[in-house]
Amino acid sequence: MWKYFKEIITGFWSLCVGMWIVLIHAFRRPVTVQYPYQTAKIPARYRGHIQLKFDPATGKPKCIVCMACQRACPSACIELDGVKPEGATRKELTRYQLNFTTCSLCGLCVESCNFDALEFSREYNLANRDKETYRKMDLLTYRPTHSVAAADKRWSDQVDAGNAKSHALTGAATKTESTGKEQQP
Ligand code: SF4
Ligand code: SF4
Repeated sequence: MWKYFKEIITGFWSLCVGMWIVLIHAFRRPVTVQYPYQTAKIPARYRGHIQLKFDPATGKPKCIVCMACQRACPSACIELDGVKPEGATRKELTRYQLNFTTCSLCGLCVESCNFDALEFSREYNLANRDKETYRKMDLLTYRPTHSVAAADKRWSDQVDAGNAKSHALTGAATKTESTGKEQQP
């Protein structure tokens, strides 16, 4: 008999604890966002695919085609070419191709570059049905953002635009709902 009542009391206590936790979380701010209208803040140490850094004065890549990044890459993701113009003291980059489908984002290429010519992008939204797009990424032309600072600025603008759109949609939905209710007999 005592065992029977003990099970009832224990079950009721478990129910109360569960409801208490639900109650606490019901009044906390949600950690999810309304993607794609809203975007979560990307951590400072986030690693997107690698991208080239460009000299703001000349607009040209900082890369001097030393090949250190290519040699450092354990997955053989990087192919690059360069030429040395007549009278120049250093090579100029003519092709920098990344196979992002096999890149492990290990960072060895970025660390091996002694010329501050490589960095991780902030690109997070690379969903695509075509794998080939990422098998031969031409980083000389395919550069969604020229700098991490620019990427963060773009992210910030996107979030603002997304939030505005989300609020507009929410407002429109509310208006439609209320209009629909009014039209009901
Ligand atoms: S992050 Fe690693 S795997 Fe990716 S390209 Fe650089 S060295 Fe290669
Ligand atoms: S290590 Fe840097 S400078 Fe050398 S080829 Fe790679 S990106 Fe260019």
